[in-house]
Amino acid sequence: MFDVVVIGGGAAGFFGAIQVAAKNPRLRILILEKTNKLLSKVKVSGGGRCNVTHYCFDAKKLSRHYPRGEKLLKDLFKTYQAKDLVDWFASKGVELKAEEDGRMFPISDSSQTIIDLFLREAEKHDVTIRLNAAVSQITSTKGHFEIETESGTKIQAKKILVAIGGHPNSHAYNFIRALGHPIDKPIPSLFTFNAAQKHFSELMGVAVPNAFVRIEGSKFSKEGPLLITHWGLSGPAVIKLSAWAAEYLFQQQYVFNALVSWIGDKQEEVLRTDLLQYKSKYPKQRVMGNPLFALPQRLWTKLCQLAEIEEEKIWNELAMKNLNKLLENILRCRFEIKGKTTFKEEFVTCGGVNLAEINTATMESKKIPNLFFAGEVLNIDGETGGFNFQAAWTTAFVAAQAIAGDQM
Ligand SMILES: Cc1cc2nc3c(=O)[nH]c(=O)nc-3n(C[C@H](O)[C@H](O)[C@H](O)COP(=O)(O)OP(=O)(O)OC[C@H]3O[C@@H](n4cnc5c(N)ncnc54)[C@H](O)[C@@H]3O)c2cc1C
Repeated sequence: MFDVVVIGGGAAGFFGAIQVAAKNPRLRILILEKTNKLLSKVKVSGGGRCNVTHYCFDAKKLSRHYPRGEKLLKDLFKTYQAKDLVDWFASKGVELKAEEDGRMFPISDSSQTIIDLFLREAEKHDVTIRLNAAVSQITSTKGHFEIETESGTKIQAKKILVAIGGHPNSHAYNFIRALGHPIDKPIPSLFTFNAAQKHFSELMGVAVPNAFVRIEGSKFSKEGPLLITHWGLSGPAVIKLSAWAAEYLFQQQYVFNALVSWIGDKQEEVLRTDLLQYKSKYPKQRVMGNPLFALPQRLWTKLCQLAEIEEEKIWNELAMKNLNKLLENILRCRFEIKGKTTFKEEFVTCGGVNLAEINTATMESKKIPNLFFAGEVLNIDGETGGFNFQAAWTTAFVAAQAIAGDQM
């Protein structure tokens, strides 16, 4: 009989096991991992550098980066947030650094540093690990659990931490469903938009620092850098928007119109005044040859072409009809979107274990005592930038305190 069985040898599972062991060294802990590899997502994360967390040390601000789980995390971050994690790594000899955009990495720039630390800590605390052990069933009998793997092995446990991550395939959650826990439909988050027409694909690689992207006919919009790709639209504004609108876009089957303002969330009347002022100040200047608002020349040329402005046209000769069209294309450039593309292979699951059935102070099931959850298996997911790992560390830490805190 193990005191604690952790299901899943990923980020949340390892961090949870280590934190339980650190708090209560007497406990017998076992990690069951389905595959023959431990911490495989940590390994490939952040392009092999592992974007461990985000440089945001304010619980409330940090929680705003989570389309699902914001309310719960706002509370949990008061117990364990990014700063606590940075301090924990430092106490173990792993320094983290923040990049300009706030993403934090180990100074080694290698995810192996994180993996080595976790494996060292697990060994130090005598955590037992079994690979190729896919859990298929949990039965709760008097006072303890019986866990069954796909190969038929049975393991007894007093407490369980479920940390199996996110899964696009709903069947992966069956053994949790069988315990009476509702699962919110798992669907993808963090993706880029595929344009139906390739009329911008010759601008592949062109980026603007501050676009405002809206999904027509919905309340969803995001501001930030935007990149034109050969398949459509990408960059932080689009990836963030994909996370916040994940459920809505799934319902639309990824067929929708994206409206792009290349100059941020600017009022139409303000832009009109800007254009008219420019026209009266530089009447002899060629419109197409002199990009405004620091927009890249290739993009400006395209916007002028869409507004049917000929190459030689000067501002003084610009008809109001064309000025209006230019304004329209600067502020509401329409892209018909059909489909999505995974962002750098980095995807997270929107959906998972429904949070209403979880005791949010301890991450314990409200239905089954001594059954805990942590990480992406929960219906919690964040924007890209280290937020998904931070949710895994925090939920695992909080669950670990409750697991290790009780007398067993
Ligand atoms: C390519 C890629 C790059 C990413 N980069 C970043 C990044 O840089 N920063 C960031 O914050 N987030 C990143 N993410 C997201 C982040 O990796 C996940 O949110 C995080 O790993 C979730 O941790 P977890 O422990 O909940 O799940 P996981 O890390 O997925 O671990 C779950 C583990 O459980 C195992 N398992 C599943 N089912 C069973 C079962 N039935 N029995 C036993 N074991 C089971 C799985 O094999 C897996 O090892 C990235 C994701 C991807 C795909």
